[in-house]
Amino acid sequence: MAEIGVSIQHDANHGAYSRNTVLEYMLGTTLDIIGASSFMWKQQHVVGHHTYTNVDGLDPDIRVKDADVRTTSALASISGVVCCLVNLLSVLWVALGVLTAQAEST
Ligand SMILES: [Zn+2]
Repeated sequence: MAEIGVSIQHDANHGAYSRNTVLEYMLGTTLDIIGASSFMWKQQHVVGHHTYTNVDGLDPDIRVKDADVRTTSALASISGVVCCLVNLLSVLWVALGVLTAQAEST
């Protein structure tokens, strides 16, 4: 459930879902519903992370002291697979919306 909120809010807060700003705002606030701040996320992720993506010392998403972040646990691997599936479902959801809109306009 949290991954759905995180995935949806990520794309919505990037402005990637729709040209409808009200819809994007509503989807972006799914992060607020699960207990975080969409406003702070935009500052940290959109401004900080995407300006300095993976630049050590500047990217606020890099907060590990251990430089070798390649080591992973089984839980982290499963989490990655689940995250990919959720992202795939998000893409399919948007594609279904586009196809539905096209079908309604014809
Ligand atoms: Zn992003």
